Amino acid sequence: MTEDKKDQYHKIRMERKKAQIDASIARADGEKGLLLVITGNGKGKSTSAFGMVARALGHGMKVGVCQFIKSRTDTGEEAFFSDHPNCEWHVLGDGFTWDTQDRSQDIATSEKGWQVAMNMLTDESYDLVVLDELTYLLSYEYLDKDTVLNGLSEKPEMQHVVVTGRSAIAELKELADTVSEIKDVKHAYKAGIKAQKGIDL
Ligand code: ATP
Ligand code: MG
Repeated sequence: MTEDKKDQYHKIRMERKKAQIDASIARADGEKGLLLVITGNGKGKSTSAFGMVARALGHGMKVGVCQFIKSRTDTGEEAFFSDHPNCEWHVLGDGFTWDTQDRSQDIATSEKGWQVAMNMLTDESYDLVVLDELTYLLSYEYLDKDTVLNGLSEKPEMQHVVVTGRSAIAELKELADTVSEIKDVKHAYKAGIKAQKGIDL
């Protein structure tokens, strides 16, 4: 095929593609507070949520973040975002289940944390709420499934909620508007590299 012909075919294909994209943009004109679930074994779930926090704050929106499970308060994201006047940040965990090794303590901590989350999920002044690592509290059955699913489904209409963590239960994925599963292809940790500042914490 000559270069001229290639250019001509390319133009025709792109015209068709533009018509399809314009039509789908015109169709997708609804507005709604979304429930997003970022799950899977690969790296990038929490950092995806924090990317949305940055976007929302950039638009002057009010953001609430609840970090379950983890107890460390020396992460870069907390240092950066918790100083922001429109961002409320709560670290609500006692550490990983294999560190606490105490199921009843984990349950009590989870329930207290869920109350903090519920305060945000019932307050429409929060435009975006991040529930980081919430999935574990459901997969370990530390929180009652129906209580959590009801809390999420009754959130304010225009509020966006992002839930992160591995092994999201099926009902949570069903309830969500957007679900991404991040696949682990390889991770530096498996090659003996410890968590790196700015990348992992
Ligand atoms: P991040 O906070 O970096 O976005 P994440 O939220 O997807 O990671 P978590 O399961 O919350 O993943 O794990 C947090 C920590 O574990 C991070 O330091 C992350 O780099 C590391 N991690 C995530 N996925 C893997 C993996 N597949 N193998 C080893 N370590 C991982
Ligand atoms: Mg995470």
